[in-house]
Amino acid sequence: MMQAQLNLTTMVNHAEKYFADKTVISRTLGGVQTIPYRKITERIRRLAGVLKDLGVEKGDRVGTIAWNHHRHLEAYFAIPTMGAVLHTINIRVSPDDLAYIINHAEDKILLVDEDLFPLIERVKDQIAGVEKIIVMTDKDELPETTLTNVASYEVLLKDADPGTELCEDINENDMAGLCYTSGTTGRPKGVAYSHRGIYLHSLALGLKDTVGLSEEDIAMPVVPMFHVNAWGMPFAALWFGTTQVLPGPMPTPQILAELMEEHKVTMAAGVPTIWLGFLEALENGNYDTSSLRCILCGGSAAPKGMIRAFESKYKIPFVHAYGMTETSPIVTLARLKSYQQELDEEERLELRSRQGMVVPGIEVKGINENGEIPYDGETIGELLVKGPWIADSYYKNDRSADSFRDGWLHTGDVINIDEEGSVKIVDRTKDMIKSGGEWISSVDIENALMAHDAIYEASVIAVPDPKWQERPVACVVLKEKEALTEEDVKQFLEPQFAKFWIPDRVLFMEEIPKTSVGKFLKRALRDQVKEMLSLSDPS
Ligand code: ADP
Repeated sequence: MMQAQLNLTTMVNHAEKYFADKTVISRTLGGVQTIPYRKITERIRRLAGVLKDLGVEKGDRVGTIAWNHHRHLEAYFAIPTMGAVLHTINIRVSPDDLAYIINHAEDKILLVDEDLFPLIERVKDQIAGVEKIIVMTDKDELPETTLTNVASYEVLLKDADPGTELCEDINENDMAGLCYTSGTTGRPKGVAYSHRGIYLHSLALGLKDTVGLSEEDIAMPVVPMFHVNAWGMPFAALWFGTTQVLPGPMPTPQILAELMEEHKVTMAAGVPTIWLGFLEALENGNYDTSSLRCILCGGSAAPKGMIRAFESKYKIPFVHAYGMTETSPIVTLARLKSYQQELDEEERLELRSRQGMVVPGIEVKGINENGEIPYDGETIGELLVKGPWIADSYYKNDRSADSFRDGWLHTGDVINIDEEGSVKIVDRTKDMIKSGGEWISSVDIENALMAHDAIYEASVIAVPDPKWQERPVACVVLKEKEALTEEDVKQFLEPQFAKFWIPDRVLFMEEIPKTSVGKFLKRALRDQVKEMLSLSDPS
């Protein structure tokens, strides 16, 4: 067979040639615009030309600080196809981490949204290595600043060559992307994505048994383009000629619902917190979501109650998936096998709320102190992953050996695997609760709580206990106008769990602290609970 290199230039060429009339619907501060791929690919070439003129060379990192919109999509392709590395920066990290990430990546150029420019202003004295800051804005004028190396994206593009050649000879193992994962301990760690990894991951997104992304879809990545490349969707979508709806700055659940209705979105992807908010919007508004064939949900466990609500009440098929920054991210996806369709509704729901079957191309296993765990749906162990779109180290980081050993990525997630091979994330290693020598899954209790009609969200953490070492405490946010007592909550859980699983305390809160990508921030929650209970810190 021919040794064709698997790189992003192939993707742009394909979209340019075959899908010129397909469109990207992009929401920016200036409004919503519909742009044909013809224009997008021309602008990709222009941007590649701009970067060349600015002296960006092969392998240089170009950072983006931006929402999901067409300019960010252009950067997604222009940067890697001119030979450089697309470094997507999480907009929600602390100023200190922001400066660290930019310096660690040695970003030469930054592409920054106009409304996110203040983030850069705050760290401008700490990022001396950045040569140019390009502001992505619909306006003619640039934000006010004392920085002298600032330019306008649109002005640069206007003067650039629309026929700029993209690199055809990119080695598939060259770095195309870089993304830092917000570690719970220490500094963020970088994950480098190769052209080959992105290419193969994109193909996997197109498989019918995974996401089944195709030309006929109208796809809306709600998951930010600054978080694991919006789960790789923009790459696959442009390549496949999929219509994309990019929801832009600070999309509220109402904005998402309006965009979905107006543009007849067929599939959308995001974390559970997004879909919780979206459910509320559906409950309070009157939106037509009948075009949706799939809501893809991952990043943290999708509560069973939420899956049920989407499917029974709104008839929106809900697909639960699992992955991490280190895995591009798709690893497993909960779809039923054909013969499992005959199970009763509860059993099907149970299976669909697991993280699911490994996607073709990737291998998984669980290990504990006795070796590889059996497929019995009970024995727990740490999830190990390998495959062509799984990282093999952290970028320029000597802590890599902790996670990457013996040819496997050690995920830090605790799983069981059922007889059919379906993976269930029981917890993260560090969030499991060990009470009297027995393990309690915080995730299972959280899911049970979130299935209660009056509960909006819930998070369960360990607190130290003199007798049992650790005991669970539940933190609960009620839906508006709902009232429950601590006793009500415990009674609700009692029939569902062994006695020792029932949390000792139920604390009612206004809000559960979240990470930059909307996951429960258990570290902060532990501090908050410690204060509330005046206990010593469990960690
Ligand atoms: P971070 O590690 O900073 O949270 P990632 O987005 O890479 O950033 O998170 C990966 C982790 O998220 C996984 O290791 C796992 O613990 C959790 N996760 C992802 N998807 C799911 C899911 N569907 N169910 C439960 N946990 C999930």
